[in-house]
Amino acid sequence: MDKNHQMWSDLGMDLETHDLLCEALPSAFGDVFMVMDDRPERMDYFNMVAADIHGIRPAELIEAQKKGRKVFGTFCVFVPDEVIIAADGIVTGLCGGSQFWVPEGEKVLPANTCPLIKASVGARLGRTCPYFRIADMFIGETTCDGKQKAYEILGEDVKMHIMQLPKLKRPRDQEAWKEEIKILIKEVEDFTGNKITLESLNDSIKIINKKRSALERMYETRKNSTVPISGRDALLIMQIAYFDDPERLAEKVNVLCEELEQRVKDGVSVAKEGAKRILITGTPLAVPNWKMHNIIESSGAIVVCEENCTGTRYFAHQVKEDNSSMEEAIDSLMHRYFDNIHCACFTPNEERFDDVVRLAKEYKADGIVNVNLKFCNLYSTENYFLEKRLKEEGIPVLSLETDYADNDAGQIRTRVEAFLEMLG
Ligand code: SF4
Ligand code: SF4
Repeated sequence: MDKNHQMWSDLGMDLETHDLLCEALPSAFGDVFMVMDDRPERMDYFNMVAADIHGIRPAELIEAQKKGRKVFGTFCVFVPDEVIIAADGIVTGLCGGSQFWVPEGEKVLPANTCPLIKASVGARLGRTCPYFRIADMFIGETTCDGKQKAYEILGEDVKMHIMQLPKLKRPRDQEAWKEEIKILIKEVEDFTGNKITLESLNDSIKIINKKRSALERMYETRKNSTVPISGRDALLIMQIAYFDDPERLAEKVNVLCEELEQRVKDGVSVAKEGAKRILITGTPLAVPNWKMHNIIESSGAIVVCEENCTGTRYFAHQVKEDNSSMEEAIDSLMHRYFDNIHCACFTPNEERFDDVVRLAKEYKADGIVNVNLKFCNLYSTENYFLEKRLKEEGIPVLSLETDYADNDAGQIRTRVEAFLEMLG
């Protein structure tokens, strides 16, 4: 038995089924990424991580656990990583982005549940994702009904902590979210046995801010008329950012940015002359969901920005650094992880429309593809006001609903091609 199989076996995974996933992933990755010309050389690190996504990082997490560190699995951008890192914990994202896991999730969830939830539950119950097996504790949040109820199933045999997210943004809701952060701090301290001090929290704020800065730097390069990196590669980096060590990720992204900035100076573009620039907005694109980017870019356009949780929402807005008291640090976290997250779970959520319009201008997008996962009521309902606002602004938009399966790919491609043609 090789090292990875031994590890997966020790984790109690279903090796036979998991092997099927391992067999399918390389060709899925090859079909989307290896077919591209002119990929930046510094994508080599991210290719390596993606190629062994169930091997290298899980092994690191297990090593850390042997030294007494705890691993926390999260599902959403509302959970402040800084709190966990300040207690010497490790954070790993757990959202599932593959159709492979959906049928297992469908065994226990209602059919009209979004694929992200089905895949996450399926990965856990089917024992085919090492991250779900490794995490010592899950941290959920009450963002949507589907996730909220799924956490009961996910937490059946793993410790689960849920943060109660207010859905309005009044002063009393801000106070309520600060209380939730305080409860999380206590929970994490008790679980890790490590006290979170002002110093450790200020330090972890700097670590995550550096990661945000690196990702923002990478996005900045996509604003240029010569685009140095494809949307597919940028998305892959965002997806890996949820799993990787934050300091290493920042370092690797900064190294890549040097190459991208040089490409901009040299006029190197991965987009063909005249390629339409597309901004994607909508629900998150969890790894390995590369479907929309692949369809759009293989239709001749270039994705220049993602306004979603695997895009700008993940790195926009820094947390204030060098806070002088715990109360101030918690207030700073609240502003970043409540006021400045423009998710459709809030009512109203006009800041998201402002973001989409601003980003479309900054990234010089010719059009917007608004793509939502099937059965996500929050984002589907928000389409009404989003489309209205984009119409007022004169920004063309194509709204689509899809899941992780490939059977609608042909139909989506036809609609994307028609949209690109309409953009002229
Ligand atoms: S879209 Fe909203 S609920 Fe979903 S991951 Fe992002 S912030 Fe969380
Ligand atoms: S995509 Fe929508 S339904 Fe699915 S987890 Fe996110 S907010 Fe909930």
